[in-house]
Amino acid sequence: ELQVRKVVAAYDGAPVLHGVSFTVPSGAFAAVLGPSGSGKSTLLRTIAGLHAPLEGAIVVGGRVLTGPRVAMPPERRRIGIVPQDAALFPHLDVRANVAFGLPRAQRGGARPDELLEMVGLADLAHRMPGELSGGQRHRVALARALAPEPDVILLDEPFSALDASLRAEVRAQIRQVLRRARTTAVLVTHDQDEALSMADIVAVLDQGRLVQVGPPEEIYQEPRSRWLAQFVGGAV
Ligand code: ATP
Ligand code: MG
Repeated sequence: ELQVRKVVAAYDGAPVLHGVSFTVPSGAFAAVLGPSGSGKSTLLRTIAGLHAPLEGAIVVGGRVLTGPRVAMPPERRRIGIVPQDAALFPHLDVRANVAFGLPRAQRGGARPDELLEMVGLADLAHRMPGELSGGQRHRVALARALAPEPDVILLDEPFSALDASLRAEVRAQIRQVLRRARTTAVLVTHDQDEALSMADIVAVLDQGRLVQVGPPEEIYQEPRSRWLAQFVGGAV
């Protein structure tokens, strides 16, 4: 279980998150949906330990990662991130990129191949990142992030660079991989369809505040504000 508790975050004194709280049950897939500038990436970076909040706590499975007097470094959090641009190492082949997520002793073993199998890229193990499509690159980044068996995986708009025809397919593949691995996941997106079609829980962020949290049907059918009704309707 991931708990985000009353997180307040700012850049140079300018507030960006104003007390954000939500809980993602273990193994669930959550989407944080909000317009550009609403604070989505800041929230992910705060969960990962890459941005220090002014107040609040991040707790995973009872471990306090961020809290009063606690700021665990990112590499000890057991949290994986798939960045928006996939950020593969261009000079390493697909297999070596995935192996990079593992302790050195495991890199030569079967584990990188198992991970590539899991994301459906076993055939491309020796391709270079420059020879992959955008969707394939994101699946390599996902395999690399899953390699150390994180408790939580964070995905920052992983599909925004893909064209519409590829997007549906890659969404379904990533969804399936995360279900199989039973990893708790948080995806951030400004795309209503993506959030509502992929997630078990949707948290809507507007100007640094969570305006509604619930299952997708509830967000879609019972939006609690006119703004949210328009936003999920695609009108904002
Ligand atoms: P997008 O959908 O465009 O990626 P977002 O919801 O991820 O937006 P954030 O990147 O979290 O939004 O930004 C929230 C606010 O914080 C914005 O007003 C942004 O300008 C500001 N901000 C983000 N990063 C920094 C930074 N490094 N320094 C100063 N301000 C920042
Ligand atoms: Mg962002």
